[in-house]
Amino acid sequence: SLVQPMNRVTIVGLGLIGGSFALGLKAHGLCNEIVGCSRSQSTLDKGLQLGVIDRAEPDILKAVAGADLVMLAAPIGSTETLLRAMAPALDGSAVVTDAGSVKGNVVAAAKAVFGKVPNWFVPGHPIAGSERSGVEAAKVDLYQNHKVILTPLPDTDPDALNLVQHAWSGIGAEVLTMSVEQHDSVLAATSHLPHLLAFSLVDTLAKEDENQEIFRYAAGGFRDFTRIASSDPTMWHDIFIANQQSILDVIGHFSRGLEVFKAAVEQQDSQAMLGIMTRAKVARDHFT
Ligand code: NAD
Repeated sequence: SLVQPMNRVTIVGLGLIGGSFALGLKAHGLCNEIVGCSRSQSTLDKGLQLGVIDRAEPDILKAVAGADLVMLAAPIGSTETLLRAMAPALDGSAVVTDAGSVKGNVVAAAKAVFGKVPNWFVPGHPIAGSERSGVEAAKVDLYQNHKVILTPLPDTDPDALNLVQHAWSGIGAEVLTMSVEQHDSVLAATSHLPHLLAFSLVDTLAKEDENQEIFRYAAGGFRDFTRIASSDPTMWHDIFIANQQSILDVIGHFSRGLEVFKAAVEQQDSQAMLGIMTRAKVARDHFT
C-alpha cells in the first residue's frame, strides 16, 4: 500500500473485538505500535504475553495521548464514561472509532460528552465476532472477509473516515457505510432478536428442568440454534438497553409471526404451515 502505516493505535477495552483488531493491524503492517488500555491489569498482562499489544497503559489519558487512532472496544454501556475520561487528552489529532454493536447510543454518548459529535469520531461496527470473549479469544483473521459497517455523520471529517476505512480494509474486511438509524434497525432484526430468542429459549427450557436432563437429548438443530446463548451477558445487556426501541419493534413483529404459526399448528392448517416454511426455506437458501 502507498499509505504510510499509522504510528500508534490505542485499544481501549482489550477483549475479543479490540484484540483481534490489534492482531490484524500488526499482521498487515498497518501500525508501528499498539497500546492497550483496559480495566484490569490481568487483561493487559495477557495482551502483552499473547503479543496482542506492544505496550500496556492502564492510565487512559496516557494511553490515548499521541495516538493516530483510538479504538473503543469495551461494552457499549461504558462508552460515555470512557469518552469523558479520555476527553482531556483528545485535541483533534487522533481519530476515534468504536466497535459497538449499537450506534445510536454511542453517538448520543459522544454528543453528551463533547456537546456535538466531534468530526474526528467515526462510529463503526464489525459484523464479526463469536460467543467467546476476552483477549485470549482474539484472532488475527477474525475480520477477514467480514463486513464492517461505519455510520459517519454529515460533519464527519473525510480524512478521519478514510483512516478508519483503510484500517479495516487493510485487515481484510469489507467496509460499508449507512446511517445510524438504519444500522440499529437492521441489526435489531438480524442480530439482537436472534440472540434474545436463543437466551430466552435456553432459559425457558433450563428453568423447567432442574437437572437440565433435557439438554442430554439435544442434537444438532438445538446446538446450532442456541450456540449464541453462551454469549457474554454483560455485553448483551448493554445492547438490549441501548437499542430498546428497535428491539421492541422487531419483537412485536416476530410475536405476530409466532401467533400466526401457532394458529396454523392449532388448526392443523397444512397450507399455512407449508407456506411459512417454504417462504423461509427459499429466503434462507437464497442468502447462503
Ligand atoms: P470482551 O468482553 O471480549 O472485551 C471487552 C473488554 O473491555 C474486556 O477486556 C473488558 O475487561 C474491557 N472493559 C470492560 N469495561 C471496561 C471499562 N469500563 N473500561 C475499559 N475496559 C473495559 O467483549 P467483545 O466481544 O470484545 O466486545 C467489545 C465491543 O464490541 C462491545 O461493544 C460489543 O458490542 C462489540 N461487538 C462485539 C461482537 C461480538 O460478537 N463479541 C461483535 C461486534 C461488536
